[in-house]
Amino acid sequence: MSARPGVAYLVGAGPGDPGLITVRAMELLSSADVVLHDRLIPIAVLDAARPDAEVIDVGKRPGGDISQSRIEELMIDRARSGASVVRLKGGDPFTFGRGGEEAEVLAEAGIPFEIVSGVTAGIAAPAYAGIPITHRDDASAVAFVTGHEDPEKEDSAIDWGALARFPGTLVLYMSVKRLPEIAERLVAAGADAALPAAVVERGTMSGQRTITAPLSELPAAAEEAAMKAPAIVVIGPVTARAEAIAWLEGRPLHGRRIVVTRARAQASTLAASLRALGAETVELPAIRIEPRIDSDEVHRAVDEIYSYALVCLTSPNGVRLLFEAMGAAGRDARALANATVAAIGPGTAAALRKHGVIADVVPERSVAEALVEALREVEVEGRPVLIARASEARDVLPDALRERDARVDVVALYDTVAETPDEDAVDAAQDADYVTFTSASTVRNLTRALGDRLPRDARIVSIGPITSEAAREAGLEVDVEAERHDIEGLVQALVSAAGPK
Ligand code: SAH
Repeated sequence: MSARPGVAYLVGAGPGDPGLITVRAMELLSSADVVLHDRLIPIAVLDAARPDAEVIDVGKRPGGDISQSRIEELMIDRARSGASVVRLKGGDPFTFGRGGEEAEVLAEAGIPFEIVSGVTAGIAAPAYAGIPITHRDDASAVAFVTGHEDPEKEDSAIDWGALARFPGTLVLYMSVKRLPEIAERLVAAGADAALPAAVVERGTMSGQRTITAPLSELPAAAEEAAMKAPAIVVIGPVTARAEAIAWLEGRPLHGRRIVVTRARAQASTLAASLRALGAETVELPAIRIEPRIDSDEVHRAVDEIYSYALVCLTSPNGVRLLFEAMGAAGRDARALANATVAAIGPGTAAALRKHGVIADVVPERSVAEALVEALREVEVEGRPVLIARASEARDVLPDALRERDARVDVVALYDTVAETPDEDAVDAAQDADYVTFTSASTVRNLTRALGDRLPRDARIVSIGPITSEAAREAGLEVDVEAERHDIEGLVQALVSAAGPK
């Protein structure tokens, strides 16, 4: 046993939306030696755990549960050996989560512990469905009830008669399976059969679904919609307010699972825009950017950067790495003061703006041909031109400029290399509705890496004609092609293609 006494934390992980975990929970998670977690937690929050932390899934699985006593034993054992143990539970640890029992066991064993409240599903799922569980006009009280028990049981711990008379909103956990008996029991005990009621499945998550119906009709409606656990049942007049307040499920990409194949460093802006529109995203990067800014050709170009008459950037990565290379040589945006700066499209121009440079030439369509066209106005004959880009790229732009007698230096700032696919992401991608491709190299690398595990039922979304061409060459059918060849254009195309669900 270590001299340092361990501590156990009973921590709520919130109802599913990873954003609903508390600051205290994240703090503890990121410093814990051991994390024992339930199945119903937002898995993404585990990324906060230390890489060397012992993370044990003690949740239910097809092969059978880990018993409650085994969980308690693990918790005590690890804490006794000096570890800081986070017992991470879905929702709130003291709301139908057996947190009370676990705390009693810890107290009994003399292990110091702390309880970290979480957002419980009974509050969050109605809120995300647009149901205020209290309302000045409709409900001055709320009852949280477990529907886990058989309501027909003689010695049921739940007084359904009292609940039928309860002057407020009923919020039922673990009750979809027993909904027919529960509704019948409540109505038999005097509840109004026409009372507005709702079932919220997978509340706060991207797959959230809500149905509403009068109490007596709710079981049939739930069965017809195949509502399954985890779900919260809400009974009371406030439920009728969902019609006006519901906000999540109407988002344009709600309920769609979308695969993002960009390099991890770039994936976040696209993924964040898609999530803001309600989509669930799976990040399955097909490529990785490997900087090559330490080469002689890059050093030479940076040394002479002020002498170029025209500097062409063909991707946001190129912009980022050119400025990194310039920074390493003690240079900044002023080194481009004399040059005409051209960006291949709005995304690259936006990256330049972040470095304080407003591009002089920006075609609407981010393809080399459009840039060649846009550069017609710029005098290049006999002048030095820098094209800073990926090592593997088409030669349309340098060829066209050389034809006009420009003195062209093509400099490779990075290599695009294949990324090894993450197995969990590949699994999650199988049920995707859409797979997005933002470059020809992502298409080629992903199709090569996944082979027949490419999600066949998903629709393919491409950022533009070059990417679409690569997709067709790889045997894919392109369903959606962006009109504007940048991330915003891709998102817009997806939204119009998705239509109402
Ligand atoms: N301690 C948890 C509840 C655990 S009991 C909490 O505070 O939320 C498990 C039940 O919680 C499920 O059967 C379901 O009724 C409810 N639940 C958990 N997560 C949910 C979610 N995202 N949406 C709807 N109900 C959920």
